[in-house]
Amino acid sequence: MKKLFVNKEACIGCGACVAIDPEHFDFGDEGYSEVISQENIESANVQNAMSSCPTNAISYAEGVEEEKEVQEEEHQCEHCEKKGCCNHDDEELDEEIKNDFNSEAESAA
Ligand code: SF4
Repeated sequence: MKKLFVNKEACIGCGACVAIDPEHFDFGDEGYSEVISQENIESANVQNAMSSCPTNAISYAEGVEEEKEVQEEEHQCEHCEKKGCCNHDDEELDEEIKNDFNSEAESAA
């Protein structure tokens, strides 16, 4: 589903979008714009706010979250070959590497 989205890394908090379309944009706690409504997101005001944003921080994001979830599920951990894993911290990894090394050494002996 198409969603209205403000890239907080790009927003400079100039307030143009909030002034043009307060129905969809407002300042968040950090002083950057946030989307406050996903209703009627193709309105003329939204289009105006988008084209007035000096940093092009406003866009439509289509299925970004869903895509990210799928990528995370499909991603195969390079350390243990489990899908969607990568919860290792460095100490765990060090331990795994030591254990692998020890078991290889034992089977070679
Ligand atoms: Fe941020 Fe763009 Fe809105 Fe200005 S117009 S507050 S830069 S999103």
